[in-house]
Amino acid sequence: MKVLFVGSEVTPYIKSGGLADVLGSLPKALVEQGVECSVVLPKYRDMKLAETLEYVTSYYIWVSWRREYCGIFKTELDGVTFYFIDNEQYFGRPGLYSYDDDYERFAFFDFAVLEMLSHLNIKPDILSLHDWQAAMIAPLYKERYGYYEFYHDIKITFTIHNIAYQGKADPRLINDLFGLGDHLYYNGNLRHDNCFNMMKAAILYSDLVTTVSPTYAKEILTDEYGEGLQSILNMKKDRLVGILNGIDYDTNNPETDPNILYHFNKDNWKEEKVKNKIALQRELGLPENEEVPLIGIVTRLTWQKGLDLILSKMDEMMHRDVQVVVLGAGDRKYEDGLRYWAGQYPEKFSLNLKYDFALSCRIYASCDMFLMPSLFEPCGLSQMMSLRYGTIPIVRETGGLKDSVIPYNEYEMTGNGFSFAHYSGDEMMSVINYAQTMYANKKHWNHLVDAAMNSKLDWENSAKQYIDVFKKLVDE
Ligand code: ADP
Repeated sequence: MKVLFVGSEVTPYIKSGGLADVLGSLPKALVEQGVECSVVLPKYRDMKLAETLEYVTSYYIWVSWRREYCGIFKTELDGVTFYFIDNEQYFGRPGLYSYDDDYERFAFFDFAVLEMLSHLNIKPDILSLHDWQAAMIAPLYKERYGYYEFYHDIKITFTIHNIAYQGKADPRLINDLFGLGDHLYYNGNLRHDNCFNMMKAAILYSDLVTTVSPTYAKEILTDEYGEGLQSILNMKKDRLVGILNGIDYDTNNPETDPNILYHFNKDNWKEEKVKNKIALQRELGLPENEEVPLIGIVTRLTWQKGLDLILSKMDEMMHRDVQVVVLGAGDRKYEDGLRYWAGQYPEKFSLNLKYDFALSCRIYASCDMFLMPSLFEPCGLSQMMSLRYGTIPIVRETGGLKDSVIPYNEYEMTGNGFSFAHYSGDEMMSVINYAQTMYANKKHWNHLVDAAMNSKLDWENSAKQYIDVFKKLVDE
């Protein structure tokens, strides 16, 4: 079976969120289980490249009425071939997104991917599309490319990493960017709420829709979580599956992580992990204290991540015997809110308003607890990383947080973290208080850290589930 993954960010080359981690690690896990995988992404100016890319070819393509240069580069890593789509005008600029012409940039990318198949004579069994940036490949394939003999018999899957980002655009772009007819807007295929909606289109036109956790697959069928697309998803319910993401256990490994000072494993964490804690307190200018619980938060600063709860309870939290370290970047209002509290409690609260991968690893490795009270969370990788590094997650029971964090039961001594159900600051505080009580009892806490480090959240099981659903699709 051959699978080509299409998405806008992929580790280790470029990353702004969890999508990059998934596209960097799922193909590798599938290759280990005998699937032939390649990945295609834009060639951004800011990419981190350890090796020089091999130039493959170049040609001109049509993006509706535009004639555009398209270069193809490639490289190979862990048995996966990575293709990079080159166009200086669209991708030779800083960062990844948030440009006025983002829809045009990714319309170019979508055409470039489809054209690449015939130019390089690549014919996957499955074209696996991810998020809105790749979404329009589904209608372009079904309405146009799929009619050409070369393109016959490719199955299209679409993966929703976050239904909040749908690619809603002006209906005029259907023709202007994608060269598709207005009838596809008026018959409802590309229209939603009187807007052109790329994610809706991909849901309708794909052979299978997947999302990144079983709980999120159920949640997005409801009014509360569906972001307006719940009725469309309910229509395709029998073609919707939720498969929990994993994390790469090779790169996220407390025994080898080059970003942390003291390596540790399941056997020696009691002696070694705490050394990281002291080192982090020193690095961040917090009082060095083994005993005080250190709570970490690593996140995009956006409403999804529960920052309203955190800010509303920061004063109360700071009155407890804890230290808090936040690493994040994003919305100005949250940055300002956090800055205020960092100014009020410099001895207890370390605020780091930036994107810093190395520091994130040290936070996962050094903290005692990791707080992630998301309003919604399709899968969430941070809680899995903290588990891997023996840092106990405190989460809200939503999406993948619910599927990966099992609340601790002190009587049966089961579970690997703490969780609360409602989006309520009081519930969050009561569970933080409970976590602190457990922290004070070494028997319980040691048991919890052992359970966290024994949680199996790598890609092995999830890759098997992807293979099952892909195989079924190919055999249809
Ligand atoms: P999302 O994709 O919604 O941002 P996830 O939990 O799925 O959330 O993935 C977030 C990833 O980005 C994690 O690997 C996390 O460590 C990383 N991350 C988020 N913010 C930062 C930051 N400021 N610095 C470093 N890494 C970050």
